Amino acid sequence: MRISRQSAIYWALLAASFAVALTASWTSFGAQIDNDAYDWMFRLYQPPTWTTQSILLAIDEPSLNAYGGVPGLRKPLADALRLISAASPRTVAVDLILADNTDPAIDARLEDALHATRNLVLACQLLPDGSAWEDPLPRFRAQAAALGHVHAEPDELDSVGRSLPLEKAANRDRRWALSLEAYRLSRGGPGVQIVESPADLDVGGRLIPSTRAGGRLMRIRYRPLSMPIPRVSLQALLNDPRRAREFSGKVVFAGVTSQTATKDWLFTPYSTRTPMVGVEIHANAFETIAQGLFLTDAPSSAVLAFSALLVVALGLTYSRFTGRRAIGLAAGILAIAHVTPYWLFTDRVVFSFCTPVSSAWLALITAGGYQLLVVRRSLRKSEADRDRYRQTIHFVTHEMRTPLTAIQGSSELMGRYALPEEKRKQIAELINTESKRLGRMIEMFLSVERLSAGQVELKKESFCAGELMAGCVTRALPLAERKQIRILTEAAPADILLTGDRELMEYAFYNLLTNAIKYSPPRTQVTLAAVRKHDHAYISVEDQGIGMDQKEVKKIFQKFYRTKRAEQSGEAGTGIGLSIVEQIVMQHSGTIEVMSRPGEGSRFTMVLPAPVSAPLAREAKES
Ligand code: ADP
Repeated sequence: MRISRQSAIYWALLAASFAVALTASWTSFGAQIDNDAYDWMFRLYQPPTWTTQSILLAIDEPSLNAYGGVPGLRKPLADALRLISAASPRTVAVDLILADNTDPAIDARLEDALHATRNLVLACQLLPDGSAWEDPLPRFRAQAAALGHVHAEPDELDSVGRSLPLEKAANRDRRWALSLEAYRLSRGGPGVQIVESPADLDVGGRLIPSTRAGGRLMRIRYRPLSMPIPRVSLQALLNDPRRAREFSGKVVFAGVTSQTATKDWLFTPYSTRTPMVGVEIHANAFETIAQGLFLTDAPSSAVLAFSALLVVALGLTYSRFTGRRAIGLAAGILAIAHVTPYWLFTDRVVFSFCTPVSSAWLALITAGGYQLLVVRRSLRKSEADRDRYRQTIHFVTHEMRTPLTAIQGSSELMGRYALPEEKRKQIAELINTESKRLGRMIEMFLSVERLSAGQVELKKESFCAGELMAGCVTRALPLAERKQIRILTEAAPADILLTGDRELMEYAFYNLLTNAIKYSPPRTQVTLAAVRKHDHAYISVEDQGIGMDQKEVKKIFQKFYRTKRAEQSGEAGTGIGLSIVEQIVMQHSGTIEVMSRPGEGSRFTMVLPAPVSAPLAREAKES
């Protein structure tokens, strides 16, 4: 299959636009668009509701006020844990770092309460420099079935907490996340193992997709704000111990929920204005695992393939269809680009939004723009063709009608009246000259058509430029004399040898010379010159005539074009001569240069190949 140059350019442009879209979507700007789209889809899509397995023991503002702030928490916490243990929860995760000693009596009370708590997970966190863990006091730690880290992973671009690292390590000391440990213990106690593979973690048969290479990050499927995880405030529980029933069979997350008392909070896809506190984030991570509502990232190869497919589809649309059809199809493809990430999101697959959408939009602009340009260009060409056709009709009707009318009128006169011999002869002569003029016109018209269609066989002969010019001057002298114009041949060395069709060349030069005379006022001068430079002959005709501006110069080689000044000069013309001259020069592998200024004059120069000079050529012949 041969691909045309035009379609190769078209597809290359589309490929380039695709590359631009890919590069853009790999920047942080693209990543942020993906983040925003992710949050937006999160808010837009209402997942089917589920019964929560977790509950918060909320250390809220009133509780803190009632028990003397964070330092006074250990005693009420110990009392609350005792109440909760009695209600047989599945697991209790305490999101407080119990790392320092306080009142010995209170610490002992808390130790006892922790001891009485089944499946207890205590919180630990990395020291700020990440070198080691800040663990609970050994006396508390000894009561826990597990330790879990309490780090979330705010996005580095916008600090929104979308994911949670299921593992964290300080040097070689690795800890699982608090939520993961809570889940493990809730599945059957400390005996349940976490089995690792490069792609996921297996906890008692539940596979949690989180690759080792990706730092075991897990996207949190937050519960919608309208359906939060149930909570009982610490103060409410202590005031009304019967509320402990609510903890029965649940996985309890105990932690500070007052945003004024803790810095442990993050914005989430749901709450970009009011942040969510750490303990609630951990409970949400637990729910994600417990319900198996994992959001997995689509592989980049799938995103790439899908985006490439969109670009190809748009490319084909604009190369195969035009108008409304193309617009309709393109709109459909764009819609697919926008909707697919959402549709996949509802299936819990996270697909890039920026890559397909920016690829599709850029491809649309490129393909649409390119086709628009091509269509415009072909429209302009057909308009130009129509213009030329109109000019031809104008030429035939206007220019040919004048001699035709003269012929008709004269012949009628001769037929109708018995004219004296003298008069008859005069009229016959008129008919003769007018019909010859008509013939010349037709001949000229046809020759320019034939020349431009390449139907004329060029003769190949050598002739001297100087001789050709002198011949033309002789023929043009009567015209020049009528206007008292002096023709001066400034330089015409005899050694400039041209090769080609002498007759056509003579026609071209004669045309330039007679134009110079025609378009010059009386008593001026026309200067001719021929020089040879770098294997080319420069044959010029310079006048002191009406001249042209740059715009006009650009048009004079078009068929039938005449400048306003030329028309006003009263000189007869058809506007065909120069187009023939140009064709002749082009057929001889030459070019034609024009310098002109309105009111000052013009210089036409034919530049023709002249690789050998006359004497050399003669010598070559003789030897
Ligand atoms: P014609 O002379 O029959 O009009 P040409 O094709 O020979 O047609 O020339 C086209 C137009 O170019 C002329 O009508 C005139 O406007 C312009 N032109 C050509 N030669 C000259 C010149 N030497 N000086 C000024 N205008 C010129």
